[in-house]
Amino acid sequence: MDYSHRYPAYPTQQVAAELEHHIDIHRQAYNYTLYEYEHVDTDDIGSAYRHHYRLPGWKDEFPVFSEVYSKALQRTVERFYQNLDSLSAQKQNGRKVGKLNWKSPSEFQSMIYSQSGFELKNTSGRNATLWLSKIGEIPIRYHREIPSQADIKEVSIKKETTGDWFVSFRLETDDADLPEKPDLDSLDTSNSVGIDLGICNYIHTSDGTAVDWLNLENEYERLRREQCKLSRKVHGSNNYEKQRKRVAEIRRHIRRKVLDYQHKITTWLVREYDAVFVEDLDVKGILEQSHNARNKQDAAWGQFITLLEYKAKLYGTHVVQVEAAGTTKECASCGVETAKPLWVRDHTCPACGFECDRDANAAMNVIQRGFSELGLGWPEDTPVETALPTDIHSMSAKRVIEAGSLTV
Ligand SMILES: [Zn+2]
Repeated sequence: MDYSHRYPAYPTQQVAAELEHHIDIHRQAYNYTLYEYEHVDTDDIGSAYRHHYRLPGWKDEFPVFSEVYSKALQRTVERFYQNLDSLSAQKQNGRKVGKLNWKSPSEFQSMIYSQSGFELKNTSGRNATLWLSKIGEIPIRYHREIPSQADIKEVSIKKETTGDWFVSFRLETDDADLPEKPDLDSLDTSNSVGIDLGICNYIHTSDGTAVDWLNLENEYERLRREQCKLSRKVHGSNNYEKQRKRVAEIRRHIRRKVLDYQHKITTWLVREYDAVFVEDLDVKGILEQSHNARNKQDAAWGQFITLLEYKAKLYGTHVVQVEAAGTTKECASCGVETAKPLWVRDHTCPACGFECDRDANAAMNVIQRGFSELGLGWPEDTPVETALPTDIHSMSAKRVIEAGSLTV
């Protein structure tokens, strides 16, 4: 299984200058690969592998190419061919695309060390150091541990337009090393959970944890302000470009904050439970998100499910998507459907009298559907009324972020 982890990096001024210098040499190498691809009329090019044989010649002709780590230089040549591949894939999909262009400094802000020339060390708590050959040591904020069974295949280091540095590790875990999922027979209401993907809360679990939405009001306010300014600039002018970048940065900042939040919640879920059941997204999207613009922007449920599924593999947890239609309407106790507008916060069943929080009822339906999806019956000795927690434990977004998990 392939996946990646990304961390903020804090090079000293001196190291940052060195990184920029190296990245610029890689940019020139990328452009030179393109040049040769278009102008060298031999059998020596056409794949990264064959193109690599030209590198010693490059270094003779342009000593600057000897300044950077040689495996990383090869990786930059590969990067050119990867871009070429993805371009031709897009063409095959009928998209109208041009050809590869020379990269200006603002378009080329990263370099990749592959297989060797790097080391992750001094991992303790939330700190770690990345060592790069020909560069030196770079402190990183190690907010997420790399699983012990993972191999680090490569690391890329990037400077964002904001000036912030990030490193990203591409990780691979052999499927044979992944933990086994628990026996289906061992699943019950104490080790499994149903999740209602939120309207009022971000998620609501069947055992009564309501996790708050991330507060992005300030970010959206800033975004709105900067977008206003953008609309007043002359399209295509320098100022317009600058402002467009500012808007893009705020959007990126929001996306990253949401991603970080989702990392914390999904890690907690797969660690805490043996089975996690969620609603099928496509249906959910059509059913409810169209009513709520905010959900669309920062819910990013597709990404949430992707994270949940990859972590489920790493931690040996069942993750199952269940039919979403009617989870809110249906009574978790007797199954009778009652229409429920968005503003109705409680579930009160006219048929059987079962009462609970609206989202708790939905989450109970999700866990029941999950059990039946896995071919398991609902445990007879656990009536829905008793499985349902007596009170709801609210979890503020602030607490999720600070604690790094949702452990009560
Ligand atoms: Zn009922």
